[in-house]
Amino acid sequence: MATEAQPLGQDAAWLGKYDDVHMHVFGTPLRVLDHGQGMRVWDVDGNEYLDFLAGIAVNALGYAHPDWCEAVAQQAQRAAHVSNYFATKPQIELATKLIELAGAPQGSHVYFGNSGAEANEAALKMAKLYGATLQTDDARPYRILALTHGFHGRTMGALSATWKPVIRTPFEPLVPNIEFVEANDLDAMGAAFATDDGKGPVAAVIMELIQGEAGVLPLDAEYIRGVRALCDEHNALMIVDEVQTGMGRTGAWFAFQRDDLGGITPDIVTFAKGVAGGFPMGGMISFGEELSALFSPGTHGSTFAGNPLGAAAALATIGVIEREGLVAQANERGEQLRTGIMATDNPLFASVRGRGLLNAIVLTRPCAHAAVGWALDHGLIINAPSPTVLRLAPPLIASEQDINEAIGILALMPNDLATE
Ligand code: PLP
Repeated sequence: MATEAQPLGQDAAWLGKYDDVHMHVFGTPLRVLDHGQGMRVWDVDGNEYLDFLAGIAVNALGYAHPDWCEAVAQQAQRAAHVSNYFATKPQIELATKLIELAGAPQGSHVYFGNSGAEANEAALKMAKLYGATLQTDDARPYRILALTHGFHGRTMGALSATWKPVIRTPFEPLVPNIEFVEANDLDAMGAAFATDDGKGPVAAVIMELIQGEAGVLPLDAEYIRGVRALCDEHNALMIVDEVQTGMGRTGAWFAFQRDDLGGITPDIVTFAKGVAGGFPMGGMISFGEELSALFSPGTHGSTFAGNPLGAAAALATIGVIEREGLVAQANERGEQLRTGIMATDNPLFASVRGRGLLNAIVLTRPCAHAAVGWALDHGLIINAPSPTVLRLAPPLIASEQDINEAIGILALMPNDLATE
């Protein structure tokens, strides 16, 4: 549609004509993006933006990276899609690579899907099969624990484990026996495991290690280690949702690998977003042979899952991240970004938090949506997960100069923006 009408201009008549198309687009004022290159993207009017959102933590290599384009073009000429009745070389190579990056043991499996929500659906299905193996004689139903403020996607299973009432409750009743436990409160988690009050055993805990959609809220290392210990003690699975934090974004290939966690091993890791650098892909890694054996052929699948085009895009993305040392670089750039933002002394900025290149600015006033609009007008793309939080998740290729440029724009953000 965009190619048919170019150059489009901010032509009200044209936009009006396509009201039905863009009615579900978030954000005002509406910008119609056209193309990108590296860290920058242009709208149909030719306005240039420095992209510090990366398609919500997706475009690890920015826009139109030559390796990515080449890999996708070449694979498209060989076979874009073959169905899940067949495997392909890129798919097998990608699964092997992901198992290696996650440090998963021999016998681990990767199940591909097309999004983060689907990745978590698969994990919850596996948790249900696992739960069935725990069933006691009195048949009290096993439970799955999720955290307050957690976000796992908008399909029915993933939504059932997603906390925010405004997006969950309109669709209730959802999947039963998923309970919410106060995040970062180890006593609450310990209590939630108790079965002496007539409750069934816990099959799994699903959690993000940094709650991205909630506003980049990190969980304490002690808490994360404590949850792992509780899962071990009670034979429950620890499902780590790395949809937003994975693939190098937080300065480790996966957030569970960060140093201060002391080498914890999850049972299931879900991934999506950045894995294929902009091609829709997600999936889960089940750790070890015994757990993986719960899925047999036919237990789970999806027509497009693991298709060779996406797998080639993912292999190219991972290849560049490895070759250019972008995981370690995410740590350096993140540090530069956080320090630089606070050094602006902008009275609108109360604090900054995050890891690697997944960061948030906490505002002194609830004006985040107006701030996003102001930033757009000044050539910077960011977003507002809540009225007092701005999220910054630039591509992993962000250079020192790009970070300084973003800081320079943020420094000028006024302190009298409209509140909500
Ligand atoms: N899990 C987490 C932690 C996410 O941040 C998201 C999306 O923001 C999802 C799951 C859902 O992913 P998707 O939008 O690809 O379905």
